[in-house]
Amino acid sequence: MNLATRFEARFGRTPAGIWRAPGRVNVIGEHTDYNDGFVLPFAIDRFTTVAASIRTDRTVRVSSTFAPGDVVEVDLEGLQPGDISGWAVYPVGVLWSLEQAGHRVLGMDLLLDSDVPVGAGLSSSAAIECAVAVAANELFDLGLTGPELVLIGQRAENEMVGAPTGILDQSASLLSSQGHAVFLDCRSQESRLVPFPLMEDGLTMLVIDTRISHSHATGGYASRRRSCEVGADVMAVAALRDLSESDLSEAAGLLDEETFRRVRHIVTENARVLAAVKLLESQGPRAIAPLLDASHASMRDDFEISCPELDLAVDIARDAGALGARMTGGGFGGSAIALTNNDDVGRVTESVTSAFASAGYTAPAIFAVVPAEGAGRVE
Ligand code: ADP
Ligand code: MG
Repeated sequence: MNLATRFEARFGRTPAGIWRAPGRVNVIGEHTDYNDGFVLPFAIDRFTTVAASIRTDRTVRVSSTFAPGDVVEVDLEGLQPGDISGWAVYPVGVLWSLEQAGHRVLGMDLLLDSDVPVGAGLSSSAAIECAVAVAANELFDLGLTGPELVLIGQRAENEMVGAPTGILDQSASLLSSQGHAVFLDCRSQESRLVPFPLMEDGLTMLVIDTRISHSHATGGYASRRRSCEVGADVMAVAALRDLSESDLSEAAGLLDEETFRRVRHIVTENARVLAAVKLLESQGPRAIAPLLDASHASMRDDFEISCPELDLAVDIARDAGALGARMTGGGFGGSAIALTNNDDVGRVTESVTSAFASAGYTAPAIFAVVPAEGAGRVE
């Protein structure tokens, strides 16, 4: 049954339209977004789709193939953070966030479906927010731009969900274009599309989903954020973005050892993003492989957001012929990416799968992704 038919069965009316928004991989630039720094994600060919209609009252009814049978009903009137728990907080949070930004909205009927793996570091949460945001933008005729919708989604995630994330995920989902990565300056929110030709270069971007859900890791994420704030305070800058590699020796003298390593990750990671963009524009994706490896080492040793499963995935992928590999997303689980010659995909996949089995880990899910188009209407 297609989504429109399921919508009719669930809500007894036809949907006004169908919109979708992609998940993402972050090619490089991890935890730099909330430090006013640089990121380089691309949207992947995995999407959250939403069938939607406006209501005449202020009730939101939302249902998801993720939780079949459930229809969650929420009254937008007087809605406050903390009033909703569970997955409905993402779609309803977007409508709340629109209202906080001064846009008067009505209730909606929403039916969600998704093939973005959940809690795998591929941003299934932003995919929901962005699908609902583009649907609401069109149905309520709000005329908001992509960068404006990014902030709507981020506010939903920060204040309704309570996850202190930056603008990386929503920007990737909303601003991406097929065959490109998005180079984003998280301070100015300016973005530029950078060609990311995989097929033409005989390359595959593999995702290795370790099946370790990162959802338990809100504490780790928040504590990294705090360390970055402390580092910026002590170094007397507005954000770590304002430090460069030449400031690191001074930072080493002023910061405690752990905070210094946190700061060093952000500073070197920003430099790696800028280097990756240059290499992509001059030589293509193959050239960025060593930066992926260096980024992983920095996250593992300095920022300490990797985990044994991610380290194994990255090490074995490299040993089996991947050109470069790193964990992607917030860390503490989730997925790694491995940039691989097409000819080596089978070997990398088999090697990682058998290494996980030998280590007694849950079997990973390994699949290829391509840079996909950002959020929009499909029907
Ligand atoms: P990630 O964004 O990396 O996948 P998050 O923890 O940020 O992980 O978001 C995952 C949460 O998003 C899930 O726990 C669930 O509440 C919600 N979610 C994801 N996909 C769906 C879906 N198809 N339908 C309903 N809720 C979903
Ligand atoms: Mg998320």
